Amino acid sequence: MTTDWDVIVIGAGPAGSVVARQLALGGRRVLLLDKKLFPRRKVCGACLNHAAVSLLEEIGLGDILHDSGAVELSGFHLRSGSRRLSLPLPSGRAVSRSVLDQQLVEAAIRAGVTFQDGVIATVGEANDDGRIVELKHATESIQAKPQPALPDCSPDSAAERRWSLAGDTSPRMFADDCLEAPEGRRRINGNRPSVALSGLSDSDAAETGGLRPRLNSFAASRLRTLTSAKVVLAADGLGNPSLCSVREIHDRTTRSARVGAGCEVTEFSAEYTPGVIHMAVGRGGYVGLVCVESGALNIAAAFDARLIRDSGGPARAASNVLSQAGFPAISTMAEAEWLGTPALTRSTTPVAVERLFVLGDASGYVEPFTGEGMGWALASAVALAPLANAACDDWQPALATTWSREHMRIVGRRQRACRMLAALLKSPTCVRCAMLLLPKVPNLLQPLVRGVSLSMPQSLTISLSDFGERGGVSPPV
Ligand SMILES: Cc1cc2nc3c(=O)[nH]c(=O)nc-3n(C[C@H](O)[C@H](O)[C@H](O)COP(=O)(O)OP(=O)(O)OC[C@H]3O[C@@H](n4cnc5c(N)ncnc54)[C@H](O)[C@@H]3O)c2cc1C
Repeated sequence: MTTDWDVIVIGAGPAGSVVARQLALGGRRVLLLDKKLFPRRKVCGACLNHAAVSLLEEIGLGDILHDSGAVELSGFHLRSGSRRLSLPLPSGRAVSRSVLDQQLVEAAIRAGVTFQDGVIATVGEANDDGRIVELKHATESIQAKPQPALPDCSPDSAAERRWSLAGDTSPRMFADDCLEAPEGRRRINGNRPSVALSGLSDSDAAETGGLRPRLNSFAASRLRTLTSAKVVLAADGLGNPSLCSVREIHDRTTRSARVGAGCEVTEFSAEYTPGVIHMAVGRGGYVGLVCVESGALNIAAAFDARLIRDSGGPARAASNVLSQAGFPAISTMAEAEWLGTPALTRSTTPVAVERLFVLGDASGYVEPFTGEGMGWALASAVALAPLANAACDDWQPALATTWSREHMRIVGRRQRACRMLAALLKSPTCVRCAMLLLPKVPNLLQPLVRGVSLSMPQSLTISLSDFGERGGVSPPV
């Protein structure tokens, strides 16, 4: 069998676009797919840390940050209860994901990648020459033409659902990704957040534009289509929905993992100064706020599912956490369109099997407090490109072992530290104790500051104030 492509990359987030571009620059025929129509929104704190910025510059994509008007970050301001802590950041940028991800896709296209959005991909069997991938139009739910079909496990059949939360008074909140496993794939879940899901969201279709003309005939034809590549890369985000029929790969959700939620608002208090990451930690979750290139305030949160339910929706959950931490209220959150995610903390094993590699959030993720996800995704993309290239020439099982090792080196160890931090964040009392201890034992800051900026600043100025005693806001550093 000859394959249609050298490489098919599933998912056009930072991991997918960058690995696709690297391979195309090396002369490979690359197809990059995404189920959403671009530009698309994505729940994210929108902050690129020092490592992510440096990596983009190293691979010749530094201009993207300049061209997109990404906001330079200089400070991190944390509040929990009456405690406040301000840290300087040596570097970092804030840019909305709709803008960043579209720019990365366009850079990939310029390098020779073929991009198709609005297409749900499902990975199929491997054979001697390559792997099959099934493609389906993202808005088509009826199989128009029977194929030697793979199980129906695409997000529009099982996963991409509207969150109908009991008593949710916020207008809309939509799950971004796959929550349910179809028959045939073993998903190992801890306490999956018990959020009721029903119906299919049409919100994503509304958030379209820009890249539509690149959709080609197979997408427009509304048929399931099979294609193939020598190597398939799954960069399809949390829960790796495209791997639902790959029995050798397991997705494990951590017990009581939090879920993500986010929105953007244009009217908010001047206390949310540009250039500073504002972070509120409260009971049942935390909320990060940062001004992005458009001047809007990006709001991204990790919540216990129960907090969302008990508060009556993500907007109220966020309001509760902000008010517990003494941040100004944001009334416009109630009308904003909220997007949600499945359980955040999860792991994938193994991260490579025959002619298939997994990278980015699809290969496992830990709660986003330190804002490292995009850095991990970019670093994985750059590291995987040479291995995928070698696999195109001659697939060897040793390449899977090498990727498992490399993946552990790049993100595995760091994610372990983040797991400990995530456990600490479950208790606001522990967070406040840590905030008291930090000025006395600055080494405790390592996991936090390394994450946000990936390097301890030369001289660390900590401004810690007690909100109850002093009132007012400690000046951002
Ligand atoms: C609340 C929150 C705050 C965060 N804050 C930050 C932060 O400040 N800084 C930071 O660096 N990271 C942050 N992150 C993490 C960051 O968003 C992710 O780590 C990052 O997006 C991972 O990139 P990726 O390319 O692996 O996946 P994604 O960006 O998730 O991209 C995956 C893509 O795959 C597509 N897809 C899924 N299934 C299919 C399919 N079957 N077929 C085709 N396409 C498919 C999706 O549409 C999506 O576009 C945060 C995350 C959350 C939840």
